[in-house]
Amino acid sequence: MLNFTHDPAAQSWVAAAQAPGSDFTLQNLPLGIIVRDGSDKHPRGGVAIGDQVVDLAHLAASGLLVGPAKAACCAAADATLNTFMAMGREGWQPLRHALFKLLSSTVDAATQEKVRACMLPLSETTMKMPVEVRNYTDFYTSRHHAVNVGRVIRPENPLTPNFQWLPIAYHGRASSVVLSGTGFRRPNGQSRTANNQPPAFGPSRRLDFELEMGFFVGPENMLGEPLSVSQARDRIFGMCLLNDWSARDHQFWEMDPLGPFLGKNFCTSISPWIVTMEALEPYRAAFDRPATEPQPLPYLDDATDRASGSIDVRLEVSVQSRRHRAQHLPGDRITATSFRHQYWTVAQMLAQHTVGGCNLQSGDLMGTGTISGPTPSEAGALVELSVGGTRPVSLPGTGETRTFLEDGDSVSIKGWCEKPGFARIGFGECRGEVLPAIDFGMA
Ligand code: CA
Repeated sequence: MLNFTHDPAAQSWVAAAQAPGSDFTLQNLPLGIIVRDGSDKHPRGGVAIGDQVVDLAHLAASGLLVGPAKAACCAAADATLNTFMAMGREGWQPLRHALFKLLSSTVDAATQEKVRACMLPLSETTMKMPVEVRNYTDFYTSRHHAVNVGRVIRPENPLTPNFQWLPIAYHGRASSVVLSGTGFRRPNGQSRTANNQPPAFGPSRRLDFELEMGFFVGPENMLGEPLSVSQARDRIFGMCLLNDWSARDHQFWEMDPLGPFLGKNFCTSISPWIVTMEALEPYRAAFDRPATEPQPLPYLDDATDRASGSIDVRLEVSVQSRRHRAQHLPGDRITATSFRHQYWTVAQMLAQHTVGGCNLQSGDLMGTGTISGPTPSEAGALVELSVGGTRPVSLPGTGETRTFLEDGDSVSIKGWCEKPGFARIGFGECRGEVLPAIDFGMA
């Protein structure tokens, strides 16, 4: 449902919010956890607007908010957003609506001054993890990705028979979810290059990124209490960008029969700002399941979700190598697509997660699975773009090529929503750099 916070004509008195290409417009208002550079090191919630951030701890104490908006602001001022997420829409909406009014250019000059006293430049803040991630589950919901990767692993039968019937997932590792900007070491592990030969141990030679989005659980459900698609939709707080780094050689050797383990558990990166589902509302689109495909079973089907379960988030990935940095080049874009192509919606994913009685916790992180669009150039991982490592991807800026990632490569995911008649909103960036492996001295 759209409301006054989606009005494309509304502007902020923070001028940079209206700058061309701005991610943090008045209609966005994403939340994150900030630390002020300098003496005051206490982490607290913040809301980005243009090139500024509203310090929610200062706003809560300012006297500018009353009632539910103030209660929500106090919760969001915490050192993580878990408590605020647990409040549900009754907390999320009053805070968004109050912030929208306070930051709108129609507010009086005296109020502007009071809000300005609660702000600081983004350039003077350090971002922290937005939530304490208690559980992390990663789905597998792009049909194009499943077919592309399936062709590499099982050429005779690329799409597994369950894919069209349920949103597949595995339980991932919460402890190694890190904030954008954190480097990680190339993982060591076992891989086998030839059938019927013993595996080798060493640094991954097929290190990959996975272009994904993440979404966060708000109010919890009790153990044994499944959520319908409609209930699940209301429990999702917001979304971020996510990179599910993957060691393909380790993964393909170890995952049969129990699924991903070391090939996935060494690092998962997320972007620092969480864009709320309310901000994403104008970019919802019909969930398309052609009549030629199996239709969702009744527990995964919902009229509202059919009408608006997909979300059109534009996504792109670029790689910056050491050579790019030496030449002061920004890196080369290697793929671009949209989240709207996923085979399952976020509400269906969450409903599936709980249908057997699994209880979710506030701040739980769900990965959508790799997001690959319908054409080869829209693939969301190098294993697809390089066709299993057989067709190198070019980095035109430096003349280099990649089949998989090399040490020093920095991978950047960007995401934004844009369409005529609505304000642009953006997610910022999710970036991470591959550092050399720990040397076991066994090479
Ligand atoms: Ca993944």
